[in-house]
Amino acid sequence: MQLRRAISTKLPPPLKPLKQFIYNYWWSWTSERGSLFRVLAPDLWQDCQHNPVALMQAITPERLWQLAEDPNYLKRLQNLSTEFHTYLQRSDTWAQKTVPSITDDNPVAYFCIEYGIHESLPLYCGGLGVLAGDHLKSASDLGLPMVGVGLLYRQGYFSQRLNRSGWQEAQYRDNDFDHLPLVPVCNEHGQRLKIRVTIRQRMIKAQVWQVQVGRSLLYLLDTDIIENDATDRLITNQLYSGDSEKQLTQEILLGIGGVRMLQALGIEPAMYHLNDVHAAFALLEMARFEMDQTDSTLDEVKAKVCDRTLFTTHTPVPTGQTFSIEQIESSFADYWPHLGLDRADFLALGAQTSNPEVFSMTALALQLTGSANAVSKRHGEVSRQLWQNLYSKSSETRKPLGYVTNGIHARSWIAPLLEDLYQDYLGLDWAEHITDGETWSKIENIPDERLWQRHQILKARLIAYTRDRVLKARQDRKECSDDINAVEHLLDPKILTLGFARRFSDYKRSDLIFRDLSRLTRIFSNQKRPVQLIIAGKARPNDTAGKRIIQRIMEWSCHPDLRDRIAFIEDYDMYTAKLMVQGIDLWLNTPRRPLEASGTSGQKVALNGGINFSVLDGWWCEGYRDSVNGWSIGKEVDSRDQEVQDTIDAESFYSQLEREIVRIYYDCDRNHVPRSWVKRMKASIRTIAPIFNSDRMVRDYVQHLYLS
Ligand SMILES: *Cc1c(COP(=O)(O)O)cnc(C)c1O
Repeated sequence: MQLRRAISTKLPPPLKPLKQFIYNYWWSWTSERGSLFRVLAPDLWQDCQHNPVALMQAITPERLWQLAEDPNYLKRLQNLSTEFHTYLQRSDTWAQKTVPSITDDNPVAYFCIEYGIHESLPLYCGGLGVLAGDHLKSASDLGLPMVGVGLLYRQGYFSQRLNRSGWQEAQYRDNDFDHLPLVPVCNEHGQRLKIRVTIRQRMIKAQVWQVQVGRSLLYLLDTDIIENDATDRLITNQLYSGDSEKQLTQEILLGIGGVRMLQALGIEPAMYHLNDVHAAFALLEMARFEMDQTDSTLDEVKAKVCDRTLFTTHTPVPTGQTFSIEQIESSFADYWPHLGLDRADFLALGAQTSNPEVFSMTALALQLTGSANAVSKRHGEVSRQLWQNLYSKSSETRKPLGYVTNGIHARSWIAPLLEDLYQDYLGLDWAEHITDGETWSKIENIPDERLWQRHQILKARLIAYTRDRVLKARQDRKECSDDINAVEHLLDPKILTLGFARRFSDYKRSDLIFRDLSRLTRIFSNQKRPVQLIIAGKARPNDTAGKRIIQRIMEWSCHPDLRDRIAFIEDYDMYTAKLMVQGIDLWLNTPRRPLEASGTSGQKVALNGGINFSVLDGWWCEGYRDSVNGWSIGKEVDSRDQEVQDTIDAESFYSQLEREIVRIYYDCDRNHVPRSWVKRMKASIRTIAPIFNSDRMVRDYVQHLYLS
């Protein structure tokens, strides 16, 4: 609070309008984006991880006054302020016209264990969190009242560092909440709002914080307050620490605490959207509250709970997320009497026919929510096979488990240089018509040269960034000077550049393309048509197999013929993701089918003119157009032997890359433009951007799932 006031005082009067942006992430998807803050102090801005609050704290008053007398800057600030007010006050939005029943008092409540809003707010691990952030942003743009419910982690997810033997080490840094763009919520007496939840048989308190994401509000719970025991203060210290006991306490806090928090805030959601299973305990608390209020039984209130709840499943594996019976018993033995249940009835809520020994969060979510959906067409098919019995058991009349394919928030992921082109050729308001295929057909009007040139700049930018990151990592590891100097030769903007960035876990098969190392080396070091690769991603802290894959890739990339051609960027985050998806030529994804529920990074790539080269799984099954907008890797075979499938997929990767892809890429005309490649870039944008965006996704949720 004090810092907020200090920032206010520090801002020279002409710069006061900055304050509204410091505490609302809306700036991050406007035409100004970071430049609004970057021009204040470029180096500081970078050191602060693009966090406006930290920047304001660190910047000198002298520098602020320089800007305060710069008419150009003031004009930009004024324009953005006007735009912001228009944005906040619009009353003709899509949602206001389509769903007037969803209001600020009765919004959609969106529950998720992680949120990826921006790189400066490290409350996410990967795709699930980034999806949640994009969902809130599109809800805001569409005028759909939405509040997010989540946890505020003291340390967030770990930072990745590779040691000299290529082994991943986890580093944790404390977030200073006062230096993040969030504010504590206070009650009517001006005291910090806190809610109570029983966890491990102790009553604990959690403090409520708020983050503004355009019109959407994200509320976060934090147990790190003096009223709590030392152990309880640690409940919200880390995201996905790998400790199942901690995970359970976090999920009780998110689910049960989340419902109580909304009540304490006076919010009565029109709809509860549970994004993945982690918040499924919310269903119990909603039921308990309803039973209390109306003096009814669980059976009597079930329909009411169902009416207002939606569950989105994100995994195609049959076990889903589970806890042991003992864990559930020790946490819920005092709770189930409030639901009028005994032990057996309660455990039945999480019973899974495939494994009666555990309590399944997916089973709980499927049995108590009114509707459920998967996140791509293919994932829908798989999920129906896995879950339909369980899902329809509690009610014959429920709609089949459907799907809404994930999408991305275009204005957050597009490179400003390309947005500028889109404004010229698609219209200034291209993003307002993002789901309109007509708008995107105008991509064909962009001269090949212009699109290619801008892509070349973005690619060179990515390579400069990659070298810088690799250099710093080698210096940190105190590598020998030869290795440090070798960074100068790392990557070449003229070479076809592949990108691969995702969590290192077995099913993602990050090492598939290394199966035949000599063939890969031949392709990469080809004299006439070389290929290079930028790679990034973390393994979960206790995933030894994942860490081993990273280590092997680091080893392989030291090979004399590969060392200038493969670069690993440590500590993948939303910022690195942005630069990668905006600068890469060809994006790889090689999951084991059908385990990629959706995936979204390839959608970000396509929006920026990159091309996907991926296994047909998740969203790519819907996005891929044969010989038009990208390539597919391999063919699904009916074999239980993973080796057989891996061999087929790897062979397909090598042969398409060397026979077709490099030829098209290097086939340039007199103006040095590879016409045929650019044609595919345009097709990639035109066919993918209108569909795989989060405006379309949120509209689908409203029309098919929030309303019915
Ligand atoms: C988009 C994104 C993801 C999700 O990518 P997948 O395609 O699901 O692997 C993960 N992490 C970050 C930082 C992202 O920006």
